Amino acid sequence: MTFNEAVLHIREASRDDIVHLVSARISLKRSGHSFSACCPFHEDKTASFFVHSTKGFFKCFGCSAKGDAIRFVSLFDGLSFTETIYLLAQQYHIQISTTNRKKYQKTVQKEDEILPGYSVLKSEILKTNQIYVAFKQGNAPFTPIFFINGSLSLDAAKLVKKRAQKIIFVAQDTSWNILKPSFEAALNAGLEVFAIPNNSAEFQEMDWVDFCSAQNTQIITKKDVIQLIAGIPDNIARSVYITYATDNFKEKNR
Ligand SMILES: [Zn+2]
Repeated sequence: MTFNEAVLHIREASRDDIVHLVSARISLKRSGHSFSACCPFHEDKTASFFVHSTKGFFKCFGCSAKGDAIRFVSLFDGLSFTETIYLLAQQYHIQISTTNRKKYQKTVQKEDEILPGYSVLKSEILKTNQIYVAFKQGNAPFTPIFFINGSLSLDAAKLVKKRAQKIIFVAQDTSWNILKPSFEAALNAGLEVFAIPNNSAEFQEMDWVDFCSAQNTQIITKKDVIQLIAGIPDNIARSVYITYATDNFKEKNR
């Protein structure tokens, strides 16, 4: 069947199946026709999350999370609507026509070309709302982490921005030639940019401007930082950064 037909089928099947789908992911406690649990979408200690088996929806009274079974799976697994439909189609043994599937696989393939490993880590990125980027394989104990060759491209940064707010560069032993374009791409994409410097024993991350001004080498100049700030799309963020960077570099005279 076509993708849209599959959506209709899955809507119906998953409505009856919501308790099963939810309880496969969190443990539910029965109370009458509904089931309750501690909400998986916010810090919840009072079981404000309810699943209504007969009505086929969930609702949390502690946060705004609510919706049908498809929505729950999508939120919990960190998948897009399309991805959720493919996942559930598999579960319900529904065949979606190959043209649709090929189109979907093509998207995944393209994303992985832009940022290797992206499709695998997609759901995790949505949950953590941030990613780490390292330029060499090593003992960087972070997740989700991407190891890239050369600098981060603008396309890759935009892909990250779809699912996360913040990017942290593991900058150990990485040259400014590699770092600068990476910072530039991430800032242009509207990400919050942080870096973990060389001398950071505990992998302490710092704001990228702090990172730049803290480098003891003369390589990173105030001019570099101002250039990078110019690429930030948000006016307010840009002016805040200008003030901050000016203060930060005042004493350094570089
Ligand atoms: Zn909640």
